[in-house]
This record gives sequence, C-alpha cells and structure tokens, in this order.
Amino acid sequence: MRRRTFLSHGVTAITAMLAPTLTWAAKSMQTGLVFDEIFLTRFFGPDHPEQPERLQVARKAITAAGLDSKLQKIPLKQINDSELKLAHSAAHIAGIRSNHGALIDTYARAGVGGTLAACDAVHRGKVRNSFVLVRPPGHHAGNAGEVVGFCLFNNVAIAARYLQRRLGYRKILIIDWDFHHGDGTESFFYDDPSVLYFSTHRFESYPRTGDPERRGAGAGLGYNINVALECGAGDSEVLHAFDTQLMPAALRFKPDFVLISAGFDSRENDPLGCFNITDQGYADLTERTRAIARASGHERIVSALEGGYNLEGLASGIVSHLQALMK
Ligand SMILES: [Zn+2]
Repeated sequence: MRRRTFLSHGVTAITAMLAPTLTWAAKSMQTGLVFDEIFLTRFFGPDHPEQPERLQVARKAITAAGLDSKLQKIPLKQINDSELKLAHSAAHIAGIRSNHGALIDTYARAGVGGTLAACDAVHRGKVRNSFVLVRPPGHHAGNAGEVVGFCLFNNVAIAARYLQRRLGYRKILIIDWDFHHGDGTESFFYDDPSVLYFSTHRFESYPRTGDPERRGAGAGLGYNINVALECGAGDSEVLHAFDTQLMPAALRFKPDFVLISAGFDSRENDPLGCFNITDQGYADLTERTRAIARASGHERIVSALEGGYNLEGLASGIVSHLQALMK
C-alpha cells in the first residue's frame, strides 16, 4: 500500500515536472495566426478594393470553420526604422511618411511587425508555422517612396532579411502565388543567391513585370524564377509550375526558412485577376510548400497575406490554406 502511494506520488510528481514541456510541445506543433484590429483600418477610399472588410470576412470565416482554438495567436512586434531598413532605403521610408502621412505609415509598420512576429515565433519553436492575416499587402513595395499597387512596406522582403541578419538563417525561399508579380520583392534579391524567389503570375497584368527570361543577375543568376501564366490558369497549371520549376530548384537550394507571399487574387472569381485556382488548389500548393520545407530538414514556414479581393473567395481560400498548414 505504502509502495503504491509512493508510486502514485512519484508518477504525479513526474507528470507535474513534464507538464510545462508537454504544453510547450503541444503548442509548438500548432500553427500561429497573427492578426490585430489595427489591420481593420481603412487606408484607401470607400470604393477601393483593398478594404478592411477583406480581413473582417476572413476573420469570421476562420472562426466559423472552428479553427480559433487550434491556432496559436501571436501578438504584433514593435518595430522601428532599423527593421524597415533591412530592405528599404531611407528615402523610401521617409517618402511613405511624407507622401501618405503618419497614420498610414503606422498601419503599414504594424503589418511588418506582424510578419516579423511570426518569424520570431517559428524561430523560437513556439509554433510550427504561421499565417499572417495582414493588410496592406507588401510584395509590390520597392523603393519608390510612395504606395505602389496598394503596397507600402514589403513585409516578406523585410522578413527575409530579418531572418538572415537578425536570426541567423542563410537561405530563404520566397514563394509568391499572388495573381500579380511581386516586382518589389524581385528587386531586392535579383542578384542575391541567398534568396530564391519564385512567382506564378500573369505577365501582361499589373505591374507588367515578371518576364520568365528575367532569371536573376550575377551570383543571383538562376535564383529568380518567374512563371507567366495565361488567363484561365487553374490548379493544374499552377501545380505543374510548382512541380516542374519550383520543386527541382527548391530541393537543390534547400532553404533554411520558407516565406509565402500568399495572394488569393489568383483564386477563381477574383475581380482583379483572371486565374481559376480553387480552395483545394491552395491546399495543394500549401502541401507542396510544406514538402519543400520537410525535404530541407525542417517545418519553418511563414505565410503573409498579399492580394485577394473577392471577399468570400478570399476568406475560403485562407481557411483552406490554414487547414493545410495545420495538418
Ligand atoms: Zn495581387
């Protein structure tokens, strides 16, 4: 009897000792979600497609799908000019503030802070991977000193440099499945072999960049992959591009960290796009991305929202993407 008591106490003590570890381990298997009310601010005019309702509807859809309790909420990180300067010029940072005012500047910085917070959480093992439900988008932002294509600061480009220079990762893969080419992102890494940029997009649409012949320069030659698709391209065309062009390059590259410019204006029925990717297609693209990370020896993925202007379509595409990240 005494022995049983001892044993049961012993087990209780061991369980108590392990509890924080078990909790941490369970959380580290979760997918993170970055969202903040500040992203619901209206930046542009009332009829502008880049509207706060995009995230309102998406947030509700995430709740309706029963995902809230399974996602690890990640708060924004406070950032300053030094983080913005990881990618942008001082002139661009000053231009955003002087051309568009302190308020818009603050909201755009919050988007960067959200993306970097997701990188921190994955880096520290708090979550396995993370989605950043953010606006405004970022992949058109280079160093123009003003808003371009609804973008102010390039969330994903800054995250890539943050991962390299602050967190010590060497090779970053950026996968951009937005309908539009991420000209800003391409511009930062065009001659850089440490960042592999892959984009599927319609070449003839805004911003009319993304020529497949532009494959990088100097040491970065071959590390910029543009796949131009025609109107009507759907799951099979985009998956074909992933399987035949992204996969071989990414498996050779072996990224230490993967970033996704997750645009959902490449989805069917988007008012600004003419591709036909379905919700299942986004799940498949997500699974391909996870396979690349796993083949590189880890699960480190941060996905940040870019475009997507059909409210219901955007929301269901995001839910499908999240569910595939959470599997
Ligand atoms: Zn777009």
